[in-house]
Amino acid sequence: MSRHALALLTWMIIVNIVATDSRPLAQTSPAEDTLIKKARAIHEKAINLDTHIDFAPSDLTGERNYTQRLETQFNLPNMIDGGLDALFFSIYVGQTREAQNPDAFTAAGYERAYKLAVEKFDAVQRFTREIAPDKIELALTAADVRRIHAKGKKVALMGVENGYPLGEDVARVKEFYDRGARYLSLTHNGHNQLADSHTGERDGWKWNGLSPLGKQVVVELNRLGIMIDVAHASKGSMMQIAALSKAPIIASHSAARALCDVSRNMDDEQLLALKKTGGVIQVFAYSSFVKTTKPDTAERSAALATARKEFNLPSPTGPGQRARFQAALKALPAEQFAQYEKKLAEIDKEYPGDPAVTLKDFVDHIDYAVKLIGIDHVGIASDFDGGGGVVGWNDASETFNVTLELVRRGYTEEQIEKLWGVNLLRVMDEVQRVAKDLQK
Ligand SMILES: [Zn+2]
Repeated sequence: MSRHALALLTWMIIVNIVATDSRPLAQTSPAEDTLIKKARAIHEKAINLDTHIDFAPSDLTGERNYTQRLETQFNLPNMIDGGLDALFFSIYVGQTREAQNPDAFTAAGYERAYKLAVEKFDAVQRFTREIAPDKIELALTAADVRRIHAKGKKVALMGVENGYPLGEDVARVKEFYDRGARYLSLTHNGHNQLADSHTGERDGWKWNGLSPLGKQVVVELNRLGIMIDVAHASKGSMMQIAALSKAPIIASHSAARALCDVSRNMDDEQLLALKKTGGVIQVFAYSSFVKTTKPDTAERSAALATARKEFNLPSPTGPGQRARFQAALKALPAEQFAQYEKKLAEIDKEYPGDPAVTLKDFVDHIDYAVKLIGIDHVGIASDFDGGGGVVGWNDASETFNVTLELVRRGYTEEQIEKLWGVNLLRVMDEVQRVAKDLQK
């Protein structure tokens, strides 16, 4: 089946499954009902924590914000529907390579990046303190997460994606800690002043791992009690961080390279090194890093574009676009939806495409990591609004499907709780404990 037909079909099946909360559907078997019931009970009890969600400060303002069902993959209504309890907002600042932006690694470039990071910190603070304090609260420790969750509120945390906005000032690590950062990745895509990025496999290396400044930052992160995130780092940087860090490290959103061979993912040696620190890989549901698929042929792309135009649907490619596409698709009246589906079936027959990346492909990565490094070192992340595209978990409202698939594969309640948050919170506690020791 083609990616689009499958996407639609699976989406409809999942909508049906999730809708069986109170009344069983005719097509589900008693065994299936029991499974769903069991999964629901586990999902409701666990602290379901997602370690990586991107956002734009413009989606956290007074007029337009996540209390509304925006066309984003993540927002509070989706979070509530999917039974997601806690999330790390990504304080992400992108960077260009030196060649593309001559002042990128000068005072002016750092200042620009710093201002963008501060804008994001402020947006999360404003959202949790002024816009929706009755619904969501900022956590600074694992104990906060447990406390806020226990009183029935949603939990927000902050993680910094890219150390670029730190500039060359190690003191800024403390400033970011004070602003609420509880994890920080040294790099994003492209090398920076702190470390090499995974993109060096294509572009060549700058530091062969960490820069001297990057090593100082690792020490400072340990001292303050900020989890070190190795997502986006090169293997060299990651292995050096694992060796240098006095506390467990995390990969806030990464996947297994053995199943999807891209430089952004972690190979077995890296996973074992991460385990040795006591850390956790938060396996992420970004289709391009879950499974490599062949791109559509020009004919198929053109036919799909024409169909979308006919039904007034936006293009689903590009960051954030998938969510807009999904929202527009969901908004189609039933009759038009059926017509669009028919059209897709015709296109699939004439110009077949590669199969879609599904929830099962995603959970395969969890299985793989659990078998290699153990249930205590694996967790879950979505990368919503920066990624997505996994059929079955393509926005926060579909979060229950992950638990259901884990139950289907025989994971126990205790194991699922570990995957959904217990492991990450353990690391957070441990990082804090190490920091206290180091500060003595
Ligand atoms: Zn990322």
